[in-house]
Parts: sequence; C-alpha cells; structure tokens
Amino acid sequence: MGLNMVAAHAKWPEENDAIFGLAAKAKQAIDTYGKDNVIDSTLGALVDDDGNLICLDTVFNELKSLPNAQIAAYAQVAGQEDFLDAVQTACFKEYRPEAYIKAVATPGGTGAVRHAIWNYTNEGESILVCDWFWSPYVTISEEFGRKVTNFEFFNEKGEFNISSFKEKFEDLLKKQKRLVTVLNTPANNPTGYSLSDEEWDEVLNIAKENAKDPENKIILLVDVAYIDYAGVGSERRKFFSKFSNLPENIFVVIAYSMSKGYTMYGMRSGAAIGISSKEEIVNEFYYSCMHANRANWSNGTRGAMSVMTNIAKDPAKKKVYEEEVNKYKTMLRNRANAFVEGAKECGLDILPYRDGFFVSIPCDNAKEASAELIKENLFVVALKKGLRFAVCAVAEDKCRVAPAKIKKVLDNL
Ligand code: PLP
Repeated sequence: MGLNMVAAHAKWPEENDAIFGLAAKAKQAIDTYGKDNVIDSTLGALVDDDGNLICLDTVFNELKSLPNAQIAAYAQVAGQEDFLDAVQTACFKEYRPEAYIKAVATPGGTGAVRHAIWNYTNEGESILVCDWFWSPYVTISEEFGRKVTNFEFFNEKGEFNISSFKEKFEDLLKKQKRLVTVLNTPANNPTGYSLSDEEWDEVLNIAKENAKDPENKIILLVDVAYIDYAGVGSERRKFFSKFSNLPENIFVVIAYSMSKGYTMYGMRSGAAIGISSKEEIVNEFYYSCMHANRANWSNGTRGAMSVMTNIAKDPAKKKVYEEEVNKYKTMLRNRANAFVEGAKECGLDILPYRDGFFVSIPCDNAKEASAELIKENLFVVALKKGLRFAVCAVAEDKCRVAPAKIKKVLDNL
C-alpha cells in the first residue's frame, strides 16, 4: 500500500476523462489521414462542417461590447437580479408554470445539478436516474456519498419505460421517504430522446399518487441542458406548464445551462430554477442554493449573465440571436435526420431519436466496438450500454455514411 495524503473520501481512481482522451486520438488521426477521411463524433459541442467550434456571433459580439468592468466584476452570490428574471424567460418562454418560482445563478447546468443532489438528499441515499445517462450525475453523487439507482429508459418496444420508472421510484421512496429523480429531457444526452407530453403526464401522475402520503418528499430535477435545440418552435417546452399547482411535497428544480444555447461552454453560466406551489418552499430553495454558491464558487460569471440579460432586453438583438440559434438547430436536425435515415437503410438498431446533440446505438460490447471503429477512423464514445454518436460534431454527409460503417463493425464482433 502506498501513502495516501488525501482523506479517504477524496481518494478516487487515477484516470483521465475517457471522452477527452478519445477526442485527442481523433485529432491525431485527422493530422495523419486528413479531415475528409476521419469521422470524429466524440465531443458534445456544436461544430461546423470543417470541425470548428460554432460560437454564436450575437453572443460574442455582445460579450466583447461589454465594459471591461462588467466582465471583471464579481456577480452577486445568487446572481444579478435582471439575469435571474431573464433566465426564467429564456427557459420557460410561453410555458411558465403557475407557481412560485425562484432562480439562482450557477456555473453551468452542472452547478444546478450539484445543488439539487446535495441540498435535497441525505447521506447514503440514492437518487434515481435512467440507465442511459450523463456520467457526471454519478460523479457528483459519489463525491457526496450518495448512490445512483437506474430505471430502464426504454422498454422492448423502444418506448419510454414507465413501468420500470414507477417500480424504482416507488421502491426508493418507500425506503427513503425522500427522492431526487433526474430527468434529462428534452434532447437527452446520450440518446436524443425527449419525453412526450403524454409521458410527462404519466410521470407526474405517479409522482402525485405518491405525494398523497404527506411524509414523502418528491424532488424532480429536470436537466434541460439541450432544450434550445429541441423541437422546431417552443413546443418542447410545453411540459413546463404541467408544473402548475403541484402538491406541496413535489418540488421541481430545473437545471438550465447557457453552454449550448449560447455556445458559452467554458464561460460557465446557468441557473437552478425552483418551482413550487408554496412560497416558503421556493424561498427555502433560494437560500439553500445561495449558501451552497457561497460555499463552493462564491458567485457566477458576471459577463455571461450580462450577455443573456442584454440580449433579452433588446428586441432587435433577441431576434438576431434567435435566428442564429435556429440556423444551427436546422443544421443539427438535418445531420440527425441523415444519421437516422442511414441507420434505417442499413438496418442499424438505434434508440429513438427526437432532438439534440446525440444518437445512441445499443450494443453489448461497446468498448470493443469503439476500438474496432477507431481502426476505420470513426471515433464514437463507448458507454455501458452502447455507443454514442455526436451528430453535433459531424457534417451531414458523414452522418449519412457512418451508420453503415458502425453496422459492419458490430456485425463482425
Ligand atoms: N446535463 C447534461 C446532460 C449535459 O450533457 C451537460 C453538458 O454536457 C450539462 C448538463 C451541463 O453542462 P454545463 O455545466 O456546461 O452547463
């Protein structure tokens, strides 16, 4: 046994991020074989057809026009007041629930996920997440001595598996009397699935049924990191209005991110937005998150907050910003359609795609498949239950041909 200087709770395996490692390999392949001969579908960021990161002009022109002092200054611990209004409008658009609502600025959606997990669970408890998930939910839970239980996202027919959800939800609630359930929708990472409005009704009916026991505390953490690329208009935001007039012991936290919708990934901005039918409960949320902000990162990125606020305040800027986002939303949809069509043509089995940056391919030996695909200069991320193809990072013509290449490798494993 070597010497451990870190405390036991902070000792973790010495491993680097697998996705960033794979992306570095893809870069090497591009240098060796040329970008036309490599498909790099590793990173979860929107890139143009030449592989350059897309950075919205409206956003960065606004940022660069800010006085230096406004970029340099500290923000308020809970976030600038005008930002806290703007972020709610950006999130809900015309589907603001009828409820008491309060927001707290966080460094990205990650900060909001962190606050919801830490502030709404007790030591040793489990949170509930579906079995196709963004791995930081586990990292965050582990960091805090929480566990993660999975429900099956899809049934054999490839539909949202409401009975698996119900079973796991009720099991944990019975044991813990308190439960944080994470739903990453619309435009789920890694599957591209979005719960339909009917599926949301089913989820909420189960929550409401269980809320009849006043001892149960039900927290729905809705991670909407990719919402700005979901649907055509704002129809994928309709479910927000279902959070109106919920029982007092159902609390909703929205994790909102500026990373994708404003292409401000590294500028770390977002919000935790709490929704309750009871004012006391959102006030409690607000002060709990404010304390957690102060304890962890003190305050968020002032310049990023100002960008959102200024765009929201000026109708002309807002219009140009929305047009710019819509242009890329269409690009993304065309790429995803090309992948889905390519998959249908060659008979590659994929999970139901609705919106967003990723498509997933279920398979048993994803690591091996990913390693074989590297030999074909196709870079995809291996997950526990399959492969994740990032349509956000690959040009449409390559999205069209990738499924056949994947199918061939999977058939020969
Ligand atoms: N949730 C999901 C599912 C994500 O994929 C991401 C980013 O990759 C986030 C949340 C949060 O991102 P950020 O902290 O950059 O806002």
